Amino acid sequence: MITLEEFTACGAHQEGHFLLSSGLHSSDYMQCALYLAKTARAERAGLQLAVASACEGMVADLVVGPAMGGLLIGHEVARALDLPFMFTERVDGEMKLRRGFGLLPGQKILIVEDVVTTGKSTREVARLLEARGGQVVGVVSIVNRSGRDNPFEPLPYASLIQVDFPTWKPEECPLCATGVEIAKPGSRPIS
Ligand code: ZN
Repeated sequence: MITLEEFTACGAHQEGHFLLSSGLHSSDYMQCALYLAKTARAERAGLQLAVASACEGMVADLVVGPAMGGLLIGHEVARALDLPFMFTERVDGEMKLRRGFGLLPGQKILIVEDVVTTGKSTREVARLLEARGGQVVGVVSIVNRSGRDNPFEPLPYASLIQVDFPTWKPEECPLCATGVEIAKPGSRPIS
């Protein structure tokens, strides 16, 4: 399995003061793209998530990965499961299935994410897919930083790394209170 140490070593786990895509602040940032930048690692993570989904009894006809985070890893999971892959994207604040993609009635769907923080956007994707006639059979992600074993109950959920980093609402952030500048995650070359 992937370890947090591997994430830290390649810069995919950074420490500081960060604004997460959920709007929360945190002392820790997980940038899966840096981990997935090595294609062999992406392939291995995809295979491990495919196995994890099967172990949790998720049987799908289709994999959906919400852009941007779910694109790379979703495609790798779909490849490992030999299933088609589609993606959703946010357009003017609204979650949509990418233009050109459509669902068959009752199609069983596995949702793949890179990082789950609050799970809010994933639930939005699940609602969208169900409204379009699909049946969501489960969620998998590389990282679970939700603070809960399964933020998607009653849907089954599996992750490769579960971490317990603090997150705060901006107005309650102790790093903001002490005047630590909120940082963009540092960039680093991939060798
Ligand atoms: Zn803050």
